[in-house]
Amino acid sequence: MTEPDAPRKLNFIEQIIEQDNEAGKWDGRVQTRFPPEPNGYLHIGHAKSICLNFGLAEKYNGRCNLRFDDTNPAKEDQEYVDSIKADIRWLGFDWGDRELFASDYFDQLYAWAVQLIQAGQAYVCELTAEQTREYRGTLTEPGKNSPFRDRPVEENLDLFQRMKAGEFADGSRTLRAKIEMTHPNLNLRDPVMYRILRVVHHRTGEQWCIYPMYDFTHGQSDSLERVTHSICTLEFENHRPLYDWYCDSLDIYHPQQIEFARLNLSFTITSKRKLLELVTSGHVRGWDDPRMPTISGMRRRGYTPESIRQFCERIGVAKFHSVIDMTVLENSVREHLNQVAPRVMGVLRPIKLVIDNYPEGQVEEMVAVNNPEDESAGTRQVPFSRVLYIDQEDFREEAPRKYFRLKRGGEVRLRYAYIIKCEDVIKNEDGSIRELRCSYDPDSKSGMPGAGRKVKGTIHWVSAEHAVDAEVRLYDRLFVKENPYDVAEGEDYKVNLNPASLETLSACKLEPALAGVGSGRTFQFERVGYFHVDADSRAEHLIFNRTVSLRDSWAKFETRSKK
Ligand code: ATP
Ligand code: MG
Repeated sequence: MTEPDAPRKLNFIEQIIEQDNEAGKWDGRVQTRFPPEPNGYLHIGHAKSICLNFGLAEKYNGRCNLRFDDTNPAKEDQEYVDSIKADIRWLGFDWGDRELFASDYFDQLYAWAVQLIQAGQAYVCELTAEQTREYRGTLTEPGKNSPFRDRPVEENLDLFQRMKAGEFADGSRTLRAKIEMTHPNLNLRDPVMYRILRVVHHRTGEQWCIYPMYDFTHGQSDSLERVTHSICTLEFENHRPLYDWYCDSLDIYHPQQIEFARLNLSFTITSKRKLLELVTSGHVRGWDDPRMPTISGMRRRGYTPESIRQFCERIGVAKFHSVIDMTVLENSVREHLNQVAPRVMGVLRPIKLVIDNYPEGQVEEMVAVNNPEDESAGTRQVPFSRVLYIDQEDFREEAPRKYFRLKRGGEVRLRYAYIIKCEDVIKNEDGSIRELRCSYDPDSKSGMPGAGRKVKGTIHWVSAEHAVDAEVRLYDRLFVKENPYDVAEGEDYKVNLNPASLETLSACKLEPALAGVGSGRTFQFERVGYFHVDADSRAEHLIFNRTVSLRDSWAKFETRSKK
């Protein structure tokens, strides 16, 4: 599982870059950008785009800009700008002093719009939004010209200036590029360049009441930043002719747009709009809820930047749509945590276990290995005493022959300690188990003559008197369906939310080394999984998030814990 990946072939974008460099196309420069719209928190799909854009710049000694595409003030906010920066930094990438905003180019974009009007390539249109849609035609029907299309240049200049000056109501006029209403590509049927919108912008305030459309902004921003390879997702493929049309018509530096397939992950969604909906409707606790596929959610859950970068590298870059299985991401997380996470013992659903022949009041310090993958992590001492806790799922009263954990009359080894035998099961009045009465073999500890005696199973434990209490939050998939959008007609994706995606265990018992542990740390609870100390955890009330189970798939974990 920890074998390093074989060296991979160049992906198609790297091939393009290497061909360009050989041909001297951009003087050997590589300039990319990551262009988020600050209207939500970043998710795993953005992580792919970040790794790609920053990664290519790193690999080819180029640079990657961070540019906020902030042309839609109604949905944008400074909170999102801040979270996006924090997330990219956390992933391990740096944009230097190139924190850029499309809104910084509003004056230039306005001047370019005027230039197109003067060239007879743009006009002010007074069709309503609905009429504009009607005039546009469909994939099978050509559009028809707007009655305002052939206005004289002077009139267009005057009207556009007055749009900017705030003389007209929101939505009453647009500026449109004059291209071709019968073009087979709908994006070229006189696309809107500017709309009137009286919304306070998080950076430019009330300075503007007209805002450029994304298509009229993106390519020109790339151009101003002298981007060489403008990498975006496939849905922009049929916007590329428009990207090219603006650069060519304005006769400005012309980057090359290259599209790749967006990342889709099974059992979750990667749409900011829908993730926002889950947050505002209270289906999750916030953008950083550990069930969310957001970078902040994954961070809170305990995923590491290394594992996310490794995942992005592993899934590669392609031109065709696919859905990546969630387990691929989880495996990357496991692989990294296996290397770095210290081991401890923790009991999630405790049952009390008393060793009748162990001296009352005696405490022994057992030596435990901190990380078998990393010798330098050393060892620690774990107190052992007469009363312990073990996990409910490690005991069965009636057990099949192949059950190698503890059963009535059976033997098991306690990790780093003795072999014990279950002699009796004491029940509560309701039939539930109150405690297990056991005996131990004093000769079976490490260093004793009987240390080598073999029993089939080894289980973890915690000394009752020394245990630290904790709350542990177990997460399951956010959606019950691999494809959350697979719904009956009239239903929406929210019907597929998993009602059991969070299970809170409030009476967990952990070994004393974890007393007062600070948030942000991750441990392997031996045999159980990886657990990350939550941001809200306090010394007096520890909270752990299960980052990921051990090798077991979720499904396997569920069947185990249901027994
Ligand atoms: P969403 O649909 O989630 O709102 P978006 O494309 O509108 O996503 P942007 O902020 O515009 O969000 O995205 C910034 C960059 O990240 C863009 O270049 C976009 O193509 C890329 N990106 C967004 N989602 C994914 C994804 N699932 N896989 C790969 N790249 C993505
Ligand atoms: Mg977008």
